Amino acid sequence: MKQYMNKYEYILIGGGVIGCSIAYRLAKSGFSVALFDSDSAGKASMAAGGMLGAQNEFECENPLMEIALESRDLFPDLRDELFEESGIDIEFRKAGLLKVAASEEDRDSLLAQYRFLAGKDATVSWLEPQDVPKKEPQLTSLTAGAIYLEKDNQVKAPLLAFALLRSAVNAGVHVYEHTAIHELIIQNGQVLGVKTKSSNVYASRVINTAGAWSSALLEGTGFTPPVIPVKGECVSIKLSKEAPVKTIFAVDGCYIVPKRNNEMLIGATSTPHSFDPSVSAGGIRSLLNRAARLLPILDTGTIERTWSGVRPQAADHLPVIGAHPFVDGLYICTGHYRNGILLSPITGLLMEKYLSGCSKTAARLAPFSPARFLSQKEAVPV
Ligand SMILES: Cc1cc2nc3c(=O)[nH]c(=O)nc-3n(C[C@H](O)[C@H](O)[C@H](O)COP(=O)(O)OP(=O)(O)OC[C@H]3O[C@@H](n4cnc5c(N)ncnc54)[C@H](O)[C@@H]3O)c2cc1C
Repeated sequence: MKQYMNKYEYILIGGGVIGCSIAYRLAKSGFSVALFDSDSAGKASMAAGGMLGAQNEFECENPLMEIALESRDLFPDLRDELFEESGIDIEFRKAGLLKVAASEEDRDSLLAQYRFLAGKDATVSWLEPQDVPKKEPQLTSLTAGAIYLEKDNQVKAPLLAFALLRSAVNAGVHVYEHTAIHELIIQNGQVLGVKTKSSNVYASRVINTAGAWSSALLEGTGFTPPVIPVKGECVSIKLSKEAPVKTIFAVDGCYIVPKRNNEMLIGATSTPHSFDPSVSAGGIRSLLNRAARLLPILDTGTIERTWSGVRPQAADHLPVIGAHPFVDGLYICTGHYRNGILLSPITGLLMEKYLSGCSKTAARLAPFSPARFLSQKEAVPV
């Protein structure tokens, strides 16, 4: 039977990039921290494309945009820091992203997004169809235009997840892998700890970072955030010939992310309410068809592997970050949906400040508060 230390200052439930990033920052600040991870099939952090799409994702004003841009800018230093702490290279790649209108129908919406983004950042550029292959020679000349986002770079997501985990361990976090939390221990409206299959482990603060599984853990607490799993399937193709270097993202959501060794990561399908880890033939066929229309050279490659994962999506598509409305000491940090890799560095830093009582950080996180999902009646204390 596994032996646990009995009491910590913090317990995190879920060891994806969000849980590990927070655990790492808390341990660096001197707190005693335990992290439990059940290693469920479909862990999003191991499935992600690794795009840092802080501009790609936004077409109009959004409370998340400023934080996303800030998080993206943390990556060059984070790469060095994590390499020093863990010896793992997260393969941060600086080649930018081309957001492509695959057909005339997509051109107007893409132009509108270009105007919005270029109004904030002069490095954002518009490419007419004849100029698109000049930026990325392998790309088809048959597009209806593209936006070039030179700052939307990328990392290899599983390596980021491993690097954060190992850095957390090296900073003193006690990590319990393959260990599910079955229940929270709550008494008189205060969280006291968690129950594994074999033990109770105590902490004055517990943070639920269980991704798409986070709502299930909160049943019986009087509040479960509306977070659902959105399954995504991916495929990777190995090219023997010269591969493109820029991420290619079609308006319809199909993307190609070039990794090291000519590996092209192609994603992703989108199936709400599904935890099913299988990969469907139809999903992969649709991705390959759409991707090869943009990048015909893909047809010359070999399929390396296919996989799937589940994104945690809140009802309003924003993250859910903050205190549980009815249980003292219990916190929720989930709902990073399509952008958890991008948002993981800032989430760790902001949560550490928020938990230390920083009122400025609490104000920045207010749009993401779990309490936004309470009805007016529920929000009034009785
Ligand atoms: C196909 C796909 C492509 C994506 N592409 C990108 C991208 O290009 N860029 C980007 O920024 N984001 C991307 N994302 C989104 C990103 O992967 C997620 O937002 C992010 O990984 C969420 O991290 P997390 O730590 O919240 O959840 P997860 O990584 O899912 O981790 C949650 C962990 O909690 C554990 N857990 C659950 N219940 C329990 C329990 N009871 N006890 C203990 N542990 C538990 C699970 O086993 C899991 O390991 C993509 C996601 C998918 C699926």
